[in-house]
Amino acid sequence: MEKIAYVNGSYVPLSEAKVSVLDRGFLFADGIYEVAAVLDGKLVDNASHLARLERSVGEIRLELPETIARIQEIQKELVARNKLVNGMVYLEVTRGADTGRDFAFPKGVKPTLVMFTSEKDIVGAPSARTGINVITVPDIRWERRDIKSVALLAQVLAKQAAAEAGAGEAWMIEDGKVTEGGSSSAFILTQDDVIVTRQNGSEILPGCTRKAVVALAEERQLRVEERAFSIEEALAAKEAFITSASLFVQGVVAIDGKKVGNGKPGPMTDRLREIYVEFAKATAV
Ligand code: PLP
Repeated sequence: MEKIAYVNGSYVPLSEAKVSVLDRGFLFADGIYEVAAVLDGKLVDNASHLARLERSVGEIRLELPETIARIQEIQKELVARNKLVNGMVYLEVTRGADTGRDFAFPKGVKPTLVMFTSEKDIVGAPSARTGINVITVPDIRWERRDIKSVALLAQVLAKQAAAEAGAGEAWMIEDGKVTEGGSSSAFILTQDDVIVTRQNGSEILPGCTRKAVVALAEERQLRVEERAFSIEEALAAKEAFITSASLFVQGVVAIDGKKVGNGKPGPMTDRLREIYVEFAKATAV
């Protein structure tokens, strides 16, 4: 069965889902995206993703073409039409297609809204058991990484370098400290059992999974510190892991070919993963 996508009010086969060459997402990366996980046919932590969508579009003065409630209805309709059990819903909103290529905002142009789904067994992914290797790359992105912009070229290059090195993710480094992964938030567990992840700010995307994991850890009286950490600190840590909507919590077992801990996902990583999966199942809509 061909997958169904949503494009500006219509549900169409994915191969026919198209936008104009004048779309500002295509020309200028003038757009915002979100990715929400789907577990057992339900959207995981979607309110958090939609809140971040509203914030991101606000920061670039882009008005959503639909209400947040309607966007969630469309996400659900797309999950149903694709009979999606486990995977993700991708959504992107751009400042639309004008009649030419002027940088300044067009007047009277309706934003573009597209969505599509993909299948993935997030809970059963083999890398959840084995963990992943990461490489480090300089963080060459712009200064507003808190906005979930579709301008992802730096991450494309970072993740390609990781793929070529046989690694699953790239950790980006700025001023000697890890900012985040190419498409994930970065964490370590120190030798005295403190969970450390960089504080939110313009240097990183405020990860929805990061936010939930920090809250779930704190509810269980686990110690969490939100601050920057270096690769030296990560290599001296007990454990390291990453979080994102499309992989939940996954162990980092090596950085630039050097083992973290005993080279296997650690017990805290496994525990936080279980806690997150439980939360995701219990709160999905
Ligand atoms: N950081 C970056 C740069 C990302 O692209 C992503 C997700 O794509 C994340 C962090 C994780 O965010 P979330 O947990 O909301 O998926």
